[in-house]
Formats: sequence, C-alpha cells, structure tokens
Amino acid sequence: MRKTLYIIGLSIIAFSCTSQKSSKKKAYWPKTATIQPKTATKTQAQDKPKPQITNDHGVEFFTTNISDPTKNDNTVSYGSIVSAKPAGYKVVKTYFPAIAQNFRQRYLILHYTALPDDKSITVLTQQAVSAHYLVNNTGDNEIYQLVDENKRSYHAGVSSWRNDKNLNDNSIGIEIVNAGYTADATGKKLFVPFSDDQVKKVAALAKDIVTRYQIPATNVLAHSDIAPTRKQDPGPFFPWKKLYDEYQIGMWYDEASKQSYYDLATSTDFTTKYNDPTFISSTQTALQKFGYGLDVSGQWDDATKKTIEAFQYHFRPQNYDGIMDAETWAILQALNQKYPIK
Ligand SMILES: [Zn+2]
Repeated sequence: MRKTLYIIGLSIIAFSCTSQKSSKKKAYWPKTATIQPKTATKTQAQDKPKPQITNDHGVEFFTTNISDPTKNDNTVSYGSIVSAKPAGYKVVKTYFPAIAQNFRQRYLILHYTALPDDKSITVLTQQAVSAHYLVNNTGDNEIYQLVDENKRSYHAGVSSWRNDKNLNDNSIGIEIVNAGYTADATGKKLFVPFSDDQVKKVAALAKDIVTRYQIPATNVLAHSDIAPTRKQDPGPFFPWKKLYDEYQIGMWYDEASKQSYYDLATSTDFTTKYNDPTFISSTQTALQKFGYGLDVSGQWDDATKKTIEAFQYHFRPQNYDGIMDAETWAILQALNQKYPIK
C-alpha cells in the first residue's frame, strides 16, 4: 500500500512538473488514476485506513506523513525541521518525504576534555573547539547542549574511519569532563577514571543519539580511534565494554572468537613472527580493515604503535603499551570477523 502511495505521489509530482503551462486546476490532478493498485495489494490496502487527502493549490496531498521511519526519515525522527521561508511562497514539507534520504549524523564520537568543569565550559563555548554535548562531573542530572545536532561542532579535527574523513561533517560529539592523563617518569600515561554518574549520563545520551539516528555499532568511536596519532581520549578508563554489555552501544568482540584466535597465535612462535615484515604488514592491514587510517609500511613505525595504543585503549585497556601482543592481535581478528565492512 505504502509503495503504491509513493508511486501515485511521485506521479503527481511528475505530472505537476510537466504541466506548468496549464492554469486550470484540473490539469494538475488526473481524474482517472494512471496507476491502479494491483490485485495482490488490494486486500492489504483495504485493511489499512486511507490517508487523509487535502487539496492545496489544485494539487491533492496526503495530510498525514506517509513516510517509513525505518528508512531514516528525517521528518519523522528529527526534533526540528529546518525549512526555507521564501518570500511570498509556502514551503510544504509534510506530504511527500522522499524515500531517498538518510541522516547526516552517522557517527558518535566520545571525548574527554582534559579540563575541570568550569574550564571545559569556557573552552568549548568561547574558543575554536566545541562539541554537541558536554557531560559534566558535578553529580547533577544535567547534560549541556552546546551545538544543535543539525549543525557541525568542531570536535573531531583531522580524522578518518574506514572510508570517511573529516568526521566533524557527519558526527555528533560528546565531551566528558575528565582530567585526561599525566605521564610518569618512564613516559607511561596515567589516566583518571570516570565517575559512575558520568558513565550513566553518557550511556543514556549515547543510547538516545544512536537510536534516533540509527548509528551503527561500528560508528560509535573514541576520538583516539579516528585520530590515533594525535589523540588519546577518552582513554582506557572509558568503559566501552559496559556500554556494550549493559546498553547495547558500540562494538565488542565475542570471547570465544577471541580465544580461538589467541590459541592460534600462541600455538605458533608469535615472538619470532613479531618482527617479520609480512606479519607486520598483515597486522597493519587488519587495523586498516577494521577502520583505522593507517599506512601499510611493513614496519612497527610510530603511527602504527600509536594506532595499536588507541586500539588497546578501546578494546584491551588493561595494557596499552602500543605493542601488538598475541591478545591484542586475537581481539583485532575477532572484531574484524564480527564487524566486516559491508
Ligand atoms: Zn577529543
């Protein structure tokens, strides 16, 4: 039924577009429908109430939104619809939402501010960086919105994931107030945990966003995932596994799959293989395939080490030394198996 309505609707548009010269109202709307519902769809059509139709400037329109929300229909799911207001004309926006559309917001990126509450607000509202949302650390129930979801916020910078670049264009950014890290005498980065209050806030906010925009699990990422050579946030204390387990947000590997890859890795001489350029290249390819913007050099170069570190922050936070050990390798293989590029 719905398909039929679309076809009829499209035929109306096509008809009116090609009938500009006629000034008679009748010319806009064929008295006898040129496309009749097929017999097979008649029963289905009879079961559903007919949408209301109104006549506007000689053209008949559906008065209710006939679109399918499962097809990323903005007009249904957005809180706001921004339309032109051309002088002397009426923009009609509710009757014919196109099937061919999707959301611009295709990623959710999480950050920490590396600043306390007050400075986070000042920097994210008064300087050249921003985020759509800011999750404070004051223990209240507020989440600050700094930028409209329909607009770009400046949170991602130079970034990439799979085939996408410059993710400010197509993402929602959440900043979480957190002190970031300090380096110890050996250069090891020491991070600060997030409070339970903050994690709950982020989870509720993320759930709402990924649901409304139908953001896939593969596109819920850390800033360090999309800019691994520059960024560490939100760091190894951000509980990605908890978000996956308790809120069904983002990616996580299956333990059995990881174990079988781990057994495979440890059944061979992983240490000897470690510096083999072929192994390094295949590992870089696996990281690239997963989504990281990384060149395949056949060497454990600085970019690769930082990318492994970013991967560990997200998926193996117990040890984020930037070394591709057997466990990190097994997790990477398990994730690539579970989340292949479609
Ligand atoms: Zn960030």
